[in-house]
Amino acid sequence: MSQERLTKMKCAVCKKIGYFIFKSKEAAKEKLELNKFCKFCRKHTPHKESK
Ligand SMILES: [Zn+2]
Repeated sequence: MSQERLTKMKCAVCKKIGYFIFKSKEAAKEKLELNKFCKFCRKHTPHKESK
């Protein structure tokens, strides 16, 4: 079984958490930044990891 960690992805524009992703323990060492559609901004924005 792989150990996965729930990670919150926060919109860089409105600072709201719009996505949750599962990261493996190995991937958790790196900060992730994804361009995703924010339902609050109604556009694609960079999403950053939030603790
Ligand atoms: Zn947003």
